[in-house]
Amino acid sequence: MADSWLQYGFAWAPWLIFALIVLSAYLLTRSHEKAAAPAVQTYACSQCGRRGRPEQMVQVVHEGAVSWQCTQCAG
Ligand SMILES: [Zn+2]
Repeated sequence: MADSWLQYGFAWAPWLIFALIVLSAYLLTRSHEKAAAPAVQTYACSQCGRRGRPEQMVQVVHEGAVSWQCTQCAG
């Protein structure tokens, strides 16, 4: 009985370790993606303060100073 349990454990141990490595690698990449997400540059609207990505903002040059406005304030 004890021997069969030992053999069962040895047969599954490598797969268990492999699964743990895959799981930890998956969690590591997920946490990495989460940490990288705020790195996307956003601009604050000079009118209302709303933040948006550059493609959602309109660049406004006012008296030589470049500022960003959201499409609602610029339009
Ligand atoms: Zn705005």
